[in-house]
Amino acid sequence: MAKKNTILFGGTFDPIHIGHTAVAMHALQVIGAEKIIFIPAKQSPLKKISPKASDNARVEMISLAIADNNKFSVSDCELKKTQPSYTLETIKYFQETLGPDASLYWLIGADCLDELPHWYQIDELIDRCNLCVMYRAGFEKPDFEKLTDTLDQTRIGKLKQNVIETPLINISSTLVRKKLTASEDVTDMLCPAVAEYIKQHNLYR
Ligand code: ATP
Repeated sequence: MAKKNTILFGGTFDPIHIGHTAVAMHALQVIGAEKIIFIPAKQSPLKKISPKASDNARVEMISLAIADNNKFSVSDCELKKTQPSYTLETIKYFQETLGPDASLYWLIGADCLDELPHWYQIDELIDRCNLCVMYRAGFEKPDFEKLTDTLDQTRIGKLKQNVIETPLINISSTLVRKKLTASEDVTDMLCPAVAEYIKQHNLYR
């Protein structure tokens, strides 16, 4: 029986923006996946600063942003943990939960490539799932040769095969937060329901 492709999309989503949903939609089509699960992190193990919005607010904003797409869902599995969660642990959790019929893909933007060798047990992570590096506006196309000191050629080959040429959308959560703090317009960067939620809850001011 053919395996069911499931995409996992981790991040802080502080807040979720149109760049996230657009690249997720693109990846869904390229991979031919059944579903994509957004997984907000408590805090990225490599980011020093905690998210500005609460765990609950970030889940609610993701739910609003994905409400129109029945292939999109959100999981709070990392938020339930007391410590920041490593991606490998989350992959193991979904491998157990979804069973052997699921083939797992984990999305990251090209901005994460330089720090990839420092991810917790990166070799096992690359072996256990399809780690997909997406294009990102403002960052060079993924160049895996610079990882040859830390990753072997087989794993680099796997990463190269899983590059996704996502559309370049020049939006980041940092930019959204900066603009909100400066009371600037962000309507073209957010799903309208998320913009309304932020306004109602007076977030990022
Ligand atoms: P911040 O500015 O706070 O660092 P971010 O916009 O990068 O946030 P995250 O929630 O950290 O958003 O991103 C989750 C994942 O989505 C990361 O792997 C990131 O590289 C990727 N990503 C975010 N925005 C884009 C985008 N516009 N295009 C491609 N990938 C993106």
